[in-house]
Amino acid sequence: MERLAAVPVTCASCKSVSQSSLTGCKACKQAGLDWPRYCSKQCQLQAWADGHGKVCAKTLAKKVEKAKAKAAKQGGAAKAAED
Ligand SMILES: [Zn+2]
Ligand SMILES: [Zn+2]
Repeated sequence: MERLAAVPVTCASCKSVSQSSLTGCKACKQAGLDWPRYCSKQCQLQAWADGHGKVCAKTLAKKVEKAKAKAAKQGGAAKAAED
């Protein structure tokens, strides 16, 4: 008896409402974040330029990776100095 209702989704960029499935930020979705959805690739690019690029899971993951690499480098250097 259950019918899958089309959930209206608002584009995170232009705020237009669409019944069809929108494209979204895959990185944020995979990270389990409240991922933004867009009605078009253009809107996604626009939102990225408007600030999502700074908060996106993709960007954060890169930051963590960089921090890890840095820590590993520093740790290695400290160890070498100890020896
Ligand atoms: Zn849009
Ligand atoms: Zn994102």
